[in-house]
Amino acid sequence: MDKNINGETRRHGRIEIVCGSMFSGKTEELIRRMKRAKFAKQRVEIFKPSIDTRYSEKDVVSHDRNFIHSTPVESSGALQLLALADDIDVVGIDEAQFFDMGLVNVCNELANSGVRVIVAGLDMDYKGIPFGPIPALCAIADEVTKVHAICVRCGALAYVSHRLVHNDSRVLLGEHEEYEPLCRECYRKVLEEEKELEKIHKQYGRAENHT
Ligand SMILES: [Zn+2]
Repeated sequence: MDKNINGETRRHGRIEIVCGSMFSGKTEELIRRMKRAKFAKQRVEIFKPSIDTRYSEKDVVSHDRNFIHSTPVESSGALQLLALADDIDVVGIDEAQFFDMGLVNVCNELANSGVRVIVAGLDMDYKGIPFGPIPALCAIADEVTKVHAICVRCGALAYVSHRLVHNDSRVLLGEHEEYEPLCRECYRKVLEEEKELEKIHKQYGRAENHT
């Protein structure tokens, strides 16, 4: 918040996106920015979709257990109402990929009314497909930061969260048992290996049926 020559305070609305794969430190970066805003005596609040209940109902907890208070909300509309009603300076949104598409408009309206909005979320799902409102949010954002995990196979910068368990549902909350960060090259190799394995399983399955 700035003071102009008349001594009035003026807020600068903006949208910042922190996106990347799982284990890339998105939530840590969101928390870091929110804590700095709090030190600057700004009114801050983190919202997250009520679907994400991995650790705690009320706190945004990152994978290293660094946490800050948060409010679970059902929809982007509820988030907007709460943020405006409480006159918040900095709105943090965690796991934004699980929100409805209305989040794009909500972030725009909050920023237009002078709120700094910091959005953290997965850029892609486990198949490498852009996730929920994140791509559209990146387009309208003032600033986009892409953070990276490390590929567990080769040590390069990871690109996608590869799912280790067989489950076709787009939403599968999990941690290290369910996902591994992979670079583009290793992800491509893994997909090929999986295809080969599937072929072998099919052949083996048929052979069993004959006996
Ligand atoms: Zn790799």
